[in-house]
Amino acid sequence: MNEGKEAGVLAHLLNTMKKQFAVIGLGRFGGSIVKELNDQGMEVLAIDRNEEKVNEFASVATHAVMADTTDENTLRSLGIRNFDHVIVAIGDNIQSSILTTLMLVELKVAHITVKAQNDYHEKVLNKLGAHKVVHPERDMGIRIAHNIVSKNVLDYLELSDEYSIVELIAGRRVHNYSLTELDLRAKYGCNIMAIKREENIDVSPAAEEKINSGDILIVIGADSDITRMEQDLFDDDTE
Ligand code: ATP
Repeated sequence: MNEGKEAGVLAHLLNTMKKQFAVIGLGRFGGSIVKELNDQGMEVLAIDRNEEKVNEFASVATHAVMADTTDENTLRSLGIRNFDHVIVAIGDNIQSSILTTLMLVELKVAHITVKAQNDYHEKVLNKLGAHKVVHPERDMGIRIAHNIVSKNVLDYLELSDEYSIVELIAGRRVHNYSLTELDLRAKYGCNIMAIKREENIDVSPAAEEKINSGDILIVIGADSDITRMEQDLFDDDTE
């Protein structure tokens, strides 16, 4: 999953709330969020202190403004506290990111999501009171590692230290078995949330649904249980 896709997923999650968004910092990550929110018909204010960036997004965002968000008066004059969700996508300039986040917390913005550049940055942002801290480079690294370790894992989303959602390709060992027959919940504590078959996606598949080799199963569970299930039923099994 690349940064653009990651931003797309985040934009999609944000979109489900149908609220007013502001994105601060129009680099690759922030820019992707603005584009995705716009594609999904959302109202989004794009902010950057760099004029070129603002011009680049003038026709993409609902409004694009040039502003330095480390200045409290600037944030107040933008009416930032009225936005339901503000995304701070300033990465390299950690000082700006921290100051901006501090200001947003003090102004009591309802939801603040901040992109962290490294683990120390993430720790500070959490201490300041950011509601959600995202770390796309690290998360992408984890996903790629899972992908490399097992060719059956297409994608991986960490929910917490213990729980994840993974996309697994069904192979010979599960071909033509129903979910009841496989009994994954009892045997592995894992739940199949959806089955992707060619262009179709079956959300909450029925217990009698038969799995075909090549189906993509979207599974939620504890990491250790997913690994156990993957080794027993999915490992090296796609030929
Ligand atoms: P990415 O990894 O997302 O591509 P980047 O490395 O291109 O990010 P960063 O330095 O992380 O860029 O900053 C992203 C954007 O945030 C830049 O366009 C920069 O102008 C903007 N920015 C940085 N500081 C501030 C600030 N104080 N106020 C407003 N915008 C800022």
